[in-house]
Amino acid sequence: MGEILEAVSMVRRYAIAEGLQEAVDFLQYKKDDSVILEKIYEDICQNLGNKKIFKEISEKENVIYGNFSCAYHPYLSVEYSEIISVQPSLHLDSTFKHIRCVVQKEGTEGISNPQVVAIFPENFRGREAQEKDPVYYFVNKFSQRHFQHTRPFLNNSRFKNFFQEVLMTDSAKTYELIANWVHIHEQSHRKGPMPIPTYLKEKSGKYSAAMEELRADLGVIQYCLQNGSKEAELTALYVFAERLMAYPLFRERTNFDAISSVFFWKYLQEKNFFLGLSLELLKKEVNELISIIHSAEMESLKLQSVIERRTYLNDFVRNYLGDIDSQFENYRRFWEFV
Ligand SMILES: [Zn+2]
Repeated sequence: MGEILEAVSMVRRYAIAEGLQEAVDFLQYKKDDSVILEKIYEDICQNLGNKKIFKEISEKENVIYGNFSCAYHPYLSVEYSEIISVQPSLHLDSTFKHIRCVVQKEGTEGISNPQVVAIFPENFRGREAQEKDPVYYFVNKFSQRHFQHTRPFLNNSRFKNFFQEVLMTDSAKTYELIANWVHIHEQSHRKGPMPIPTYLKEKSGKYSAAMEELRADLGVIQYCLQNGSKEAELTALYVFAERLMAYPLFRERTNFDAISSVFFWKYLQEKNFFLGLSLELLKKEVNELISIIHSAEMESLKLQSVIERRTYLNDFVRNYLGDIDSQFENYRRFWEFV
């Protein structure tokens, strides 16, 4: 374990044991490791007793360092990790400068948890999120879950041939595909009649969030299939596999991503998509489903309040799915993993 990592791990253990987290302000990345190390030791020696560990946030090319807090990742605390950037393999129209796709190397316990696939500005404790703040996506964790869950499932599926190209990619290639995915996904969220973040509240219901995540990935598939290059098609196929199949494999049926997979599957199944399975057909169905979702959004915009609009979107999904438990059973039976 590196010297810095060891030092931050020590601070982390102390912060958790002593309940000092609330007292910690925020951290600042320094220009080089030696300064970070110096800063950490300084903080450990001088400020722990005052219940004040770090003062500033830091931004450094190959390091994430901060005091984090996240409702659904309660183990996040004072964390440090070395990272390596991964660039998208597609030449995208525009990329978000604040999105950073990275491979996480050795890090402290909390941030190394496989559940932590991204770090958002609002996860930095005690700090007002700014528009230009970076969002970090840990592509190695997305990839890991692909190899652990999605790939064995695809290999056993009767639709294995359709996903052959995805099944042949190595992990370095999946990093690039995931970087493509993340960038276009974030762009998709910001398009349509109810873009994020303007309508974030409407799309924060369990079912409305499921539809929004699906909508963003349908946008990725649409973009890639319109592009038409081999690399874009491979990205579309990868995202299709993940959105359609991965989430119910490792998420609870109450999770919005898992619900979005079942929603997508039900739609395709009703359109007899799996009988004709092709990229051409996928393009057609994806375009249609995006139109359907956008029509529902336009309808909800006729309503006055945020709550009414959110309820409308939630009900739209719930009504379509019917009994969610039996829908999950149908899904599992279809993919033969019961
Ligand atoms: Zn999203």
